[in-house]
Amino acid sequence: MTSIVLFGPPGAGKGTQAARITDSTGLPQVSTGDMLRAAVKNGTDTGIAAKQYMDDGKLVPDSIIIDLIKERILESDAKNGVMFDGFPRTVPQAEALADITEVTHVIAIEVPDERIVERICGRYSCATCGAVYHDSFNPTKLDGVCDECGGSDMKRRADDNESTVLQRLSAYHEQTSPLADWYESKGIFHRINGDRGIDEITSDILQALS
Ligand SMILES: [Zn+2]
Repeated sequence: MTSIVLFGPPGAGKGTQAARITDSTGLPQVSTGDMLRAAVKNGTDTGIAAKQYMDDGKLVPDSIIIDLIKERILESDAKNGVMFDGFPRTVPQAEALADITEVTHVIAIEVPDERIVERICGRYSCATCGAVYHDSFNPTKLDGVCDECGGSDMKRRADDNESTVLQRLSAYHEQTSPLADWYESKGIFHRINGDRGIDEITSDILQALS
């Protein structure tokens, strides 16, 4: 059995790699956010309990999330393991997870903060057709004119500025580093250099899993 926990800061390409890991290994991606939404929608006991907290604007307690995971890993598509995304976020959550299932590999996609700032802050998109561009990596052929539709209304997301991105990254590091230490002490932590081409990253991840 292979059960993976996937870490990666915003802008590191975690979603892309998660999809590729699922394709290559057949392990289903288990996102606690998706599970919560599904449990609430299906009105399961756990979903009903979770909904009370969500309706009150409170964080859903770890015990409920763990119950959801317990139910999820019993499903038939999870018999060879799963890939956790967005969980655990704290050491107590990691400990609780270890009590119900064995995590065999922790994959951390690492990209230097300044490279992430470069990736995220240069993004803009066409307001007319939604085509996405980047100042350095993928600019429009004609300055300010969309290659796809010829529109000239380019949008940048307000939260894609440098200080906001750096804030998000520092929150990520603060949250992740105790967890990284904890998993490192178990000898299952794999650092993957995410500052490269998508294929190279995938091949390193699959090698770490083999
Ligand atoms: Zn366009």
